[in-house]
Order: sequence, then structure tokens, then C-alpha cells
Amino acid sequence: MKYLDEFSNPELARRLIDQIKSAATRRWSIMEVCGGQTHSIIRHGIDQLLPDTVEMIHGPGCPVCVTPLEVIDKALEIASRPGVIFCSFGDMLRVPGSEKDLFRIKSEGGDVRVVYSPLDALTVARDHPDKQVVFFGIGFETTAPANAMTVYQARRLGIENFSLLVSHVLVPPAIAAIMESPSCRVQAFLAAGHVCTVMGTAEYPPLCRRYGIPIVVTGFEPLDILDGIRRTVVQLESGRHELENAYRRAVQDDGNPAARAMLLDVFEVTDRAWRGIGVIPGSGWRLSQAYREFDAEQRFAVTDIHTEESAVCRSGEVLQGLLKPHECEAFGTRCTPRNPLGATMVSSEGACAAYYRYRRLEVTRA
Ligand code: SF4
Repeated sequence: MKYLDEFSNPELARRLIDQIKSAATRRWSIMEVCGGQTHSIIRHGIDQLLPDTVEMIHGPGCPVCVTPLEVIDKALEIASRPGVIFCSFGDMLRVPGSEKDLFRIKSEGGDVRVVYSPLDALTVARDHPDKQVVFFGIGFETTAPANAMTVYQARRLGIENFSLLVSHVLVPPAIAAIMESPSCRVQAFLAAGHVCTVMGTAEYPPLCRRYGIPIVVTGFEPLDILDGIRRTVVQLESGRHELENAYRRAVQDDGNPAARAMLLDVFEVTDRAWRGIGVIPGSGWRLSQAYREFDAEQRFAVTDIHTEESAVCRSGEVLQGLLKPHECEAFGTRCTPRNPLGATMVSSEGACAAYYRYRRLEVTRA
């Protein structure tokens, strides 16, 4: 299949691995920001093919994983109210809140529906004017434009029974927070290609300069990732710390200007809590004043719900690259995809789920 097979060529992969091996003369720790990249690295065993000198650290780039527990609890509270149709992408339904998940709410009679686009939720709202329809709008810069467009359309079409439960997060402030952490071991980043298709690359050079780190915008196929790692190692070895775009087939320097204009209109930057990490200043979006009437938190008065994270789950350390999933005591025993204790085991992009799916036998034998 075009754009897939050609980026999985074993011969080219071997060549890139050889180039990485000969370039790396010292130990380097590189973080891939995106959960999709983590999944690809573990699935294809890329980290195991790298020389011992190059370590991949899995970053906080799974949107489901970083959505804070209290936002899940707010979703559960709203979804359990009579007269509400709660719409979400399917991967949020099994994310555990403090006591239950959206599947449980559905089994208890809540009207929880899986949709494939926020615009589907808007159609539900138009078709059920007697109900309040809420869409669970989470994710990074990648999913935000569709959510912004939906709210824009709701206002334009006068669909007043629609609202958005927003928990959008932004990559550049997360990179800054990781670099500011006293326990940070990260020396370079693979930036998430799909985020940059929307936002462009302008936010990254200041981070390269401030923290002295190379950042390489990278795709998701095996060759994309290997090429990203190769470029990163070459920069590290030569003492350079620049932004490189290794995903030019999808990422323009200025991203998608139409999407960015929509985001600027509908959202405004806010401090945002990341699950397991805590509040990162300026790391999220909320609805701007002009669209605040569509904010589900305000509409259903759930702003006061505050929840403590589980003491057992160490996904915060996993999300910061301080712990590999199998180093958590609960991995594969008390915590499995069937009975997840934390979001990184639930989401298909979560690091714990990726290790469980592709490395379980290996790491439990070791
Ligand atoms: S294995 Fe489970 S309990 Fe441990 S960090 Fe991952 S999600 Fe949390």
C-alpha cells in the first residue's frame, strides 16, 4: 500500500540502523513524544534494533493517557444525568475514572454513544432537540481542529443543545515541562508529525535554543522513525541542537493555516492538568469567551469535581519517561488491558498497553 509499504522496507531499515550504529559514539536518550510513535517502536521492535548507546524514552503523547482523572470523572457525572446523550470516541469508554468508566454508565442506563467524528455528535444534537448532547473533546493539537469546527458549526446553525467537554493539551509546553524536571534524562525529541501538520514547526526552534536539544519532526512508519532517530543522533554527536523536519511529505513549516485560524477563533490557551504529571502552565486549550456557552463543564456545573490519582498506578512516571511500563509492579498482574488501573494500559497508544501487547512474554520472563 502506497505510503505504508514503502516506509517499511527491511533493506532500507537495515541501512538506517547501520548508520545509527556508526554515528552513535556515546550514550544518548531520545524521547518520542507521540503515543503512535511509541506503539510503532514497540510493535516493530525498533528500540531492540538500536545500538545499546541509543535509548528511546516514551513520552506523554497519548491523548487518552494524559487526560486527567478528574476530567474522566466529570465526563462520568455528565453522562449519568437524565436527558443527556454523551458522545465520545470509542477509546475513552474504558478509561477508568475513580469508580467506574463510561461503559459502566452505559450499562446502568446512561445514553453513551460512540461516534467517529465530533460532527456526528452535532448531528445527534440536531436530531434530538429535547436532549442535551455532549461531545468529549480530548487530545492534542491534531484532534482540536475538528472539535473547533464542530463548536463553530453549532453556533452558526443555532444548535444550542450541543456542548463540548474540553481537555485539549499542547505539545510544546509539555516538552518544556519535561526539560525543566530535575530528573529529566532526555537529550533530544522526535516531535509528533501529525501535530505539526496542523501547527507547523515554528514553536520548536525556541525550545531547541532554550534547552540545547535537537528536535526532529518525525512520522509514524518504521523508516520514518529510524530516519528521525538517525538525524537526531547525528545532531547530538555534532553538538547541534536544531529543528529538523523529517516528515516533509505531510508537514509544511506553517502547518495548516485554515485549521490554525479556526483554533485561534474557538479556543484560548489555559493551564491544563496532565494525568500523572500535574498542571503544566499554558499547556491546554479551553473554549474562548465567544464560545464559552458551549462549555459542558459550565453548562452542567461540574467545575468543582476534583479527584486524586491512584496511588498504585505509576503512569505519571511512565508518561515522563522515568519508568518503563514493565518496571511497574502492577504490570501484567493487577493491571492488564482487561482490568486497567491506569489510562496508559487502556489506550491503544498507551505505553503500558503497547508493552503488554508486544513485549509481555519477553519482559515477564526476564
Ligand atoms: S502498568 Fe498499569 S498500574 Fe502500572 S503504570 Fe501502567 S497503567 Fe499504571
